[in-house]
Amino acid sequence: MDNKKNVLITGAAGFLGSHLADRFIKEGFKVYGMDNLITGDMANIEHLMPLENFVFYHHDVSKFVHIPGKLDYILHFASPASPIDYLKMPIQTMKVGSLGTHNLLGLAKAKNARMLIASTSEVYGDPLVNPQPEEYWGNVNPIGPRGVYDEAKRFMEALTMAYHNYHGIETRIVRIFNTYGPRMRLNDGRALPAFFSQAIDNKDITVFGDGSQTRSFCYVGDLVEGIYRLLHSDYTLPVNIGNPDEITILQAAEEVLNLVKGSSSKIVFKGLPKDDPKVRRPDITKAKEILGWQPKVNRTEGFKITYEYFLKKMGK
Ligand code: UDP
Repeated sequence: MDNKKNVLITGAAGFLGSHLADRFIKEGFKVYGMDNLITGDMANIEHLMPLENFVFYHHDVSKFVHIPGKLDYILHFASPASPIDYLKMPIQTMKVGSLGTHNLLGLAKAKNARMLIASTSEVYGDPLVNPQPEEYWGNVNPIGPRGVYDEAKRFMEALTMAYHNYHGIETRIVRIFNTYGPRMRLNDGRALPAFFSQAIDNKDITVFGDGSQTRSFCYVGDLVEGIYRLLHSDYTLPVNIGNPDEITILQAAEEVLNLVKGSSSKIVFKGLPKDDPKVRRPDITKAKEILGWQPKVNRTEGFKITYEYFLKKMGK
C-alpha cells in the first residue's frame, strides 16, 4: 500500500504554487499540480514534470475538479494575483475565488482532505489601521478596480469558514502579504519585477504616485515555510504571513536601482492607480505565537537572489 501523503496544489505553475510544489516534493509527498496557465508558466515546474511523484493537470478549477484516489491535502493557490492581471481578467478572478473554491471544498469534503486557501492582505483593502492584525475587518471598495480580487478572496474566506463550521471540513486560511523572489513574472506589473526589469534594461523606473505608499515585502522561501507550518497546525482562523519590514515604494525603487550594477535608469513618477492602498504591513503576532514562525531572509539578501534570477531570465 502506498502510504505517501497526497496533496493537490492549484495554481501549481504560478509563482507561489510552484515553490509550494517544490517543498511538498522535498517532504516526500505525492503532488498533483493543477493550473489553467492563464498566468502560470510551465517553465516554473518543468523540473518537476519527469518526477514520478508529480502529476500535472491542465485544468480550470472553476469547472468541476476530479482527482483519482485518496487526497490528504488541498492548497488552493490558483488566481490572477497582480493588479494588472485581475484588471485584465476580472471575471476569471472572481470565478476562481468563488466557483473554484466551491469545487475544491466539495472535493475536500468528498475526500476527507484538509484544505488551505490562499487569502490575501487585500482583504484589508486600503487599511485604516497599520499594521493589520487578523481581527481587522478591512476597508474595501467592492466596485473599485481591485474589488474583483478583494471580494473574491473575502467570499473565499467566508465559504471556507462555512464549510468548516457546517460540514466540519478541516480548513486553514493564510492571508498572504506582498511576496517576492524567483519565478515572479517579469511583466506581471507588480512593483519589484517592474523595477528590476526596468533597471536591468536601463529604462525609466515607474513609481506610481509620489512613492510614499508603503508595502512590506516577504521573501518567498519564508512564506512557504509559514504556509507549511500553518497547514500542519490545528489553527482554523486566518493567519497573516508576511514580513513586517515596511518600506515606501520610492525606497524600494531606490534600493533596486542601487543594486542593479551600472544601470542608467532614472526614477519617474506616474499616476497612482485608483484605490491603491496607502500602507500595508502585517501584524504577525499570531504566526509567531501559533506557528513559531517569523521571516528569516532580509531584504538585502532576498533582493540579491531576486536580482540574479531576473538577470538570468532576461538573458543578461
Ligand atoms: N507600483 C509602482 N510602480 C510599478 C508597479 C507598482 O509604483 O511599476 C506601486 C503600486 O502602485 C503599489 C505598490 O507599488 O503602491 C505595490 O504594487 P504591486 O502591484 O506590487 O502590488 P499591490 O501591493 O499594490 O497589490
